[in-house]
Amino acid sequence: MAEHVKELLSAYIDNELTEDDVHRVREHLKTCEECRDSLYELQLLKENIYYAYENVEVPVHLETSIMDKIYALEQETNPRNYFAFWITGFVAMVLLAGMAALVAPFMYFIARFIYKLASIGFKIWHTVPIVMSAIPYFTFMLYGGAFVVIAISAWFLYRLLLSGPYDRRELL
Ligand SMILES: [Zn+2]
Repeated sequence: MAEHVKELLSAYIDNELTEDDVHRVREHLKTCEECRDSLYELQLLKENIYYAYENVEVPVHLETSIMDKIYALEQETNPRNYFAFWITGFVAMVLLAGMAALVAPFMYFIARFIYKLASIGFKIWHTVPIVMSAIPYFTFMLYGGAFVVIAISAWFLYRLLLSGPYDRRELL
């Protein structure tokens, strides 16, 4: 009896043997019941594996969620996004420039208005000493009022510090 062909049977089922080996296996199987049994068991095993593989249920949402993740990753690294970023920046710059061009004629009047306000303020500032000297005891009342305000503020600050979550009496 020729050598058994068990080690070739798997490849035989999968059609992975050379013609010579196929011939050898077929000739052997005609005479060897042991190898025929092995072939049958191997076929059964492969069918079961195939059947199990076919019946594995891949959750429907799995594929979509994987694709979503891949898509999100692509979006993150997509050069088009950088392009969109720069385009957006450019458009924003153009819009700002256009708005500045539209506003520019009015800027002169706005600047003149600000200048007028500033000069009025400056004039008022210069009249303060004149007003102060014109009103009797003005300076005295000003300093007196300021002292009262500061004293009241200090007292409130003192009370505020005392009412804190910690006893600050030791600090004061
Ligand atoms: Zn055999």
